[in-house]
Amino acid sequence: MTDQIRFVLSESDMPTHWYNIVPDFPTPPPPPLHPGTHQPVGPDDLAALFPPELIAQEVTTERFVEIPEPVRDVYRQYRPSPLVRARRWEKALGTSARIYYKYEGVSPAGSHKTNTSVPQVYYNALNGITRLTTETGAGQWGTALAYACSLFGLECEVWQVGASFDTKPQRRTLIEVFGGKVHRSPSRLTEFGRSLPEDHTGSLGIAISEAVEVAAQDETIKYALGSVLNHVLLHQTIIGEEALKQLAMAGESGADLVIGCAGGGSNFAGLTFPFLREKLAGNQSPRILAVEPSSCPTLTRGEYRYDFGDTGGMTPLMKMYTLGHDFVPSPIHAGGLRYHAMAPLVSHAVHEGLVEAVALHQSECFDSAVEFARTEGIVPAPESSHALAQARRAALEATENGTEPVIVVGLSGHGLLELGAYDSYLNGRLEDDPLSDEDLQAALANVPVI
Ligand SMILES: *Cc1c(COP(=O)(O)O)cnc(C)c1O
Repeated sequence: MTDQIRFVLSESDMPTHWYNIVPDFPTPPPPPLHPGTHQPVGPDDLAALFPPELIAQEVTTERFVEIPEPVRDVYRQYRPSPLVRARRWEKALGTSARIYYKYEGVSPAGSHKTNTSVPQVYYNALNGITRLTTETGAGQWGTALAYACSLFGLECEVWQVGASFDTKPQRRTLIEVFGGKVHRSPSRLTEFGRSLPEDHTGSLGIAISEAVEVAAQDETIKYALGSVLNHVLLHQTIIGEEALKQLAMAGESGADLVIGCAGGGSNFAGLTFPFLREKLAGNQSPRILAVEPSSCPTLTRGEYRYDFGDTGGMTPLMKMYTLGHDFVPSPIHAGGLRYHAMAPLVSHAVHEGLVEAVALHQSECFDSAVEFARTEGIVPAPESSHALAQARRAALEATENGTEPVIVVGLSGHGLLELGAYDSYLNGRLEDDPLSDEDLQAALANVPVI
């Protein structure tokens, strides 16, 4: 075993294709349905919102999709991202496990989200689209989309969840630095926004409804989503494709445990689906684990059924684990993990038993995040800290059992713009707020019956 810490691929070894898991699933995932007819949606139903290339990727059954050269050219600004052996953290934990983290915080937006904003903007630019609308929660997606729009000359209009808009002004500033325009959601600019009180704290589902409403009304405007959809997960698989190569560079024959945090499911799928392919092919046998917050426990306590992706009920119905499309989670610090549902492909993988899920309290996640910062020198995004906390549990368990597992953990972004959250944690103001059964039943009551 090498003493090396960082496993860095050269630019020329960067993967040239994204990986689509759909043809490798033992059973096909259920199709999205039209909200009115309840029939499977066709490409035409999506044409108002997305360019044809992304719609094709949404439904493709090809196993590999080539990454266009102009997209690879932008990826080269920050990719391949490093895979790092967490030697000092391992030492602090006294673990017999070998822990590797795949770090996406090196991107311009500080998270994995640029991996999909760049191709999404590229395909829209090819089609002469001049403006994109979107939602953002904590702000990472708005930042990633604004940056990509500035590269390809598009305008970017962002509806930011009210609670984040009010408490995270620096996130808004960063979106503006990259050239984006930010509205507090619910806004007065849309019919759906005006149907809600102006001081409403908002939710991702509400912000999506507003951004979709604006895009659907104008041919030159389209909408971009930062997670959940098949094409978004596809773009993120470059993370796992690189990690497979880097793990081999480290002299490992495979992973025993692959862990990612899951909000809408995109960084989780991006890291783990290539490992799941290897598992289904019999080449490796990792356990694959999604970690979510106990205050928004979609996979562990939600129901697997058809629901809307947004609060206004404008999107197609998708079969997914959901807490109900009008669920508004408590304002925990991991803003990116506060979505009411989970990507259909991740949901399918969980439902088929290919992937497991756990829910953790945010205080345990911050414990791990601070320990990680003090040993590895990176301040993790509060979202990513969920994956770290689970890796920590597994590492301590390994020591107890006398095993030496290889753990690969997704570090989806840095937390340098989330220092307010760290301040709350360090000064004892962080509260755990698990979802009550009453609130869960109330939220599920409005899921459509199909
Ligand atoms: C947005 C975000 C997430 C959650 O989104 P997924 O689609 O579940 O990946 C996780 N980590 C970071 C750093 C994010 O910005």
